[in-house]
Order: sequence, then structure tokens, then C-alpha cells
Amino acid sequence: MAEQRTQAEVIHNSMPEDDPNSNSDFSSAAKPRWGPQHAGAKELASHYSSGKRLQETICLLVCITLMAFNFMQLVMHFKSENWYTILVCSLFGILVADFFSGLVHWGADTWGSIEIPVIGKAFIRPFREHHIDPTSITRHDFIETNGDNFAVTVPFLAHMAYKFVSLSPEEINKTYNWECFVFLLAIFVSLTNQFHKWSHTYFGLPKWITFLQDMHIILPKKHHRIHHVAPHETYFCITTGWLNYPLEKIGFWTFLEDVIERTTGNKPRDDDFKWAQKQN
Ligand SMILES: [Zn+2]
Ligand SMILES: [Zn+2]
Repeated sequence: MAEQRTQAEVIHNSMPEDDPNSNSDFSSAAKPRWGPQHAGAKELASHYSSGKRLQETICLLVCITLMAFNFMQLVMHFKSENWYTILVCSLFGILVADFFSGLVHWGADTWGSIEIPVIGKAFIRPFREHHIDPTSITRHDFIETNGDNFAVTVPFLAHMAYKFVSLSPEEINKTYNWECFVFLLAIFVSLTNQFHKWSHTYFGLPKWITFLQDMHIILPKKHHRIHHVAPHETYFCITTGWLNYPLEKIGFWTFLEDVIERTTGNKPRDDDFKWAQKQN
């Protein structure tokens, strides 16, 4: 379905995110439909609290320490003759990270509301804000952009570090391929929102990042733009985007939505639509 949209439709219905003034050029007579001046976007942005900021900072520090430790261990136990299986396991880790990025993004975009205790304001809010002010992510610093994703990987990286310090070298050899899978999965899950942010950044990106986007090793700009066409119902994967086309082709998200709507009676994207309509 998304594939049939014309480029003109995409540009008309999606955000003017390549506006050099970050959607803040109000000089034209018509009031812009989207951006930081949108009443809903303003209200959503105001819910980013200092407690949440502290939680994000701590998680980032712990996570980066664990990543560095596990990386050193993986290098120390590396056996070059196994490079082929290590590569396959690592690629599979990246693919699974892309799938989870889609699943979580789809879940938060499609269901629930920011009124849900604890997770509403902390985890659903940024998804609502992102649809009505897509460039706000480009104004978030490293901590606000990546805090949640890094936090998710902490238990898995901690468990891996524990294994490296407690298991014998022979036992580590046996589980090495699995650890490569988990490590790449954790790295790509952690960096998902950074890749997502870069896919919204039209100016000033270093050449090596645009190269990775052009090679479709990380989420490309044009590719992600398909998701930003209202009502935001497809192309949810935002790590590499590799799974977006196949999942759309088999109607994966529509199928899940039909099942949930039939069993719970909830309508997909009800809350997201409510925020998009907010005028003041
Ligand atoms: Zn979305
Ligand atoms: Zn986006």
C-alpha cells in the first residue's frame, strides 16, 4: 500500500522536515500544520521531567561501560577460523534489532495513551510528540535521544558480562556465537533512535553517516519518510529498515491490528489521532 503512494502525496501529507529552519519558518501567511508551535507538541514536550533525565543519564553510563567491557572480552576470545558463523550470528542480531524496533514503535504508535500511569508520560509521550513535531528529535541531545534504548539493553549486557567473569574459557567458546548475536542486537537496539534521529537530519551530517544511509546499512531518510505520512500505519522499523518492505508485503501490522481490534475492541491509533487534532 505504502509503495503505491506517489511522491507528491508523500510530500503533501508528511512533515516539511527538510525545512532548513526546523519547521519554524512561519513567514508564510498560512499557519503551519506541524512543528514545535503545534499546541499538542508543546504540551507533550513539557512533560519531559528532570527525574526522567536522571534515569536516562545513569542508564547511558552503565550501558556504555558494559558495552566496552563485553567488547574487550569478545575480542580476547575471538577465533578467526570461526569468522563466517560469527558474521551470520551478528547479522541476525541486527535483523532482530530491526524487528524489535518495528514492534515497539508500532505498539507505542498504535495503542495506549499518555494517560497510562508511569509508561504513558515516560515512553508513549515521545512517540506522540514525534508525529506532530518530527524535527524535535533533531533538537534532542544524545541523552534524551538514546536514554530509553540504552536502558533496555542493560540487563542483557550485564548478564553477558557476568558470564565472561564467571565462566571458564572453554565454556565461553561454546557460547561465543550466541554472545555475538546478543552483543550486535544490543548495540543496534541501543543506537536505534540515533539512526532514527539521523534519518530526520537533513543538514550538517558527517559524510560517513550519509554514506551508511545511502548504502542502507542504517535507516535512510527517504525510506523513513514513508512512515511519516498520516496516519502513520506502516514502515515502523527504524534501526536499519531492512524488514519494512517484507513486513508491509505480508500485511504484518494490519494483521496484528485486526486481531487486537477484534479481541479488545480498541481502535488502532485513537490516541495518536487525538493529539494530531489538538489545536490549543
Ligand atoms: Zn511513528
Ligand atoms: Zn521518524
